[in-house]
Amino acid sequence: MKEFPAFAAEFADCIRVLHHQGHSPATSTNYSFKDDADRIWVSRSGIDKSRCSAEDFIHIDEYGKTLAPFEHMTPSAETGIHCAIYEMFPETRVILHSHDLYPVLFAHHKNTLHFEGFELQKGFPSVSTHHDEIQIPVFPNSQVMHDIKSHMESHKQALRYQVFMIEKHGFYTWGTSLFEAKRILESFSYLCKASWYLTT
Ligand SMILES: [Zn+2]
Repeated sequence: MKEFPAFAAEFADCIRVLHHQGHSPATSTNYSFKDDADRIWVSRSGIDKSRCSAEDFIHIDEYGKTLAPFEHMTPSAETGIHCAIYEMFPETRVILHSHDLYPVLFAHHKNTLHFEGFELQKGFPSVSTHHDEIQIPVFPNSQVMHDIKSHMESHKQALRYQVFMIEKHGFYTWGTSLFEAKRILESFSYLCKASWYLTT
């Protein structure tokens, strides 16, 4: 008997909304959360996010191994990134991933993204004024999750805004709640879109 935390349904509602905003074309992206018992649930591989439901989450351990009764199901190929975020930032409860187009365009051939003067920078944690200069790291894409984890570990200080970009791929955001993670996702998408139009 599979039982899903009540939050899974609320989370799936949000994922469908994000899909309609262009964050997850062609079954891409992946999502996870920790339930009240600190168990990790990650979205399974290959699902159409326009139809995401509570039953599309799989219970995994801290190393990404699927646990009963989900052993026969395949978690997202990027589950290792989720595990790395929970390990590095233990207060994390929700992780979002996006393949939104403008961050991919704006991050092309960059190692770091700079934002300064935008009101929406205040959507990032601990930012209270548009005067701050925000720098978000861009890591090379890889199918080897350990490569991305190595970049995360060597740039931990740069991850204080709880978002990083992967070149020609997409970005990850996380937070202590869905509210916080979604706020950062929307802020980062907006800043990349505005910056792209202002610089091209
Ligand atoms: Zn991805």
